[in-house]
Amino acid sequence: MPEIHLDHAATTPVRREALEAMWPYLTGAYGNPSSRHRLGEEAARALDDARERVAAVLGARPAEIVFTSGGTEADNLAVKGLALANPRGRHALVAATEHEAVLESAAVLERMHGFAVDRVPVDADGRLAPASLRSSLRDDSTLVSVMLANNEIGTVQPVAELAEAAHAVGARFHSDAVQAAGWLPLDVAALGVDALTISGHKVGAPKGIGALYLRRGARVEPVLHGGGQERGRRSGTEDVAGAVGLAVALELAERDRRARADAIERMRDAFIRSVLAIAPEARLTGHPADRLAANASFCFPGTAGEAVLLQLEERGVLCSSGSACAAGSEEPSHVLTALGLDDATAQTAVRFTLAASTSEAELEQAVLALRASLDALRGLAMR
Ligand code: PLP
Repeated sequence: MPEIHLDHAATTPVRREALEAMWPYLTGAYGNPSSRHRLGEEAARALDDARERVAAVLGARPAEIVFTSGGTEADNLAVKGLALANPRGRHALVAATEHEAVLESAAVLERMHGFAVDRVPVDADGRLAPASLRSSLRDDSTLVSVMLANNEIGTVQPVAELAEAAHAVGARFHSDAVQAAGWLPLDVAALGVDALTISGHKVGAPKGIGALYLRRGARVEPVLHGGGQERGRRSGTEDVAGAVGLAVALELAERDRRARADAIERMRDAFIRSVLAIAPEARLTGHPADRLAANASFCFPGTAGEAVLLQLEERGVLCSSGSACAAGSEEPSHVLTALGLDDATAQTAVRFTLAASTSEAELEQAVLALRASLDALRGLAMR
């Protein structure tokens, strides 16, 4: 029985076009872009080209793109880097549902740099209301970080309004768009952000490459110190092939984004209806409408999320109990408890995330597998 992969928010396969574009820079044209000779210049040209193409997708200038080792590093650079370089105050705000890369970076500001950090609550759908942010902002607020879309529940944040609120008190605004890339427009001017994180492996590029958009004039304290690459904002020899792969994959993800999102959203909505029909006790988590097109996340009260996952895997369906990063931890997800769910309910979460390659037949099979899994667990519970 072929496996059905419904965990695309955890990662995606590398697109053939990205791999083919990367190949020359891993083999013959393997130069270090800082070298002055022909091989180096060839690599530097490829890096420039990748930077231009990533910038074009974001509506940014090439010099505003900093290549990083992925989303985690870009979030660290944005949160710590922007906060520490801005002398106006020591107050930072993050949404309570941010990814650990943002939350832990903010915790370092608190623990090691004397910052006060507010984790601003979200509503029951996971949305951070601009009014809530406004009431938490202070005159000495330096940085606000709110993701464009959540990795566990898919809820989309009103980033443009939130950025406007942050700017009204003179704070910088960063958004983690790792999950939004390929699904939502990433036009940095329309979003009004000072910094934006993307990660390659969520859009068909390899793991270990990402980028931070940093608005011109937004100063950052580097996180990685060394040879001064990336205009001093991120030292370390650049992953030329990775950057090329990111540029190609991101362009492709953007090219048919709207049509793909619409088609997947229709399939996802039918899937949600089927799940709620076979498991009326289930509860959809996240915003019912303002959510990523590919995300269907639920709580199944009366079960354990991890047990449902195991049962599903036995039936050939791969999904996750929340974010892959937090998987394996005993703690209930901070995202789900931030919605107001109690710990016990939060432990019953299962997240299905679709891709363009997902078929209706696969989803129908996944629903059958889910029904069998829940029946099996109920049977066990009754014995
Ligand atoms: N931010 C979000 C919202 C994510 O979902 C992830 C990965 O799951 C990251 C950041 C981290 O990105 P990376 O895996 O490239 O370090």
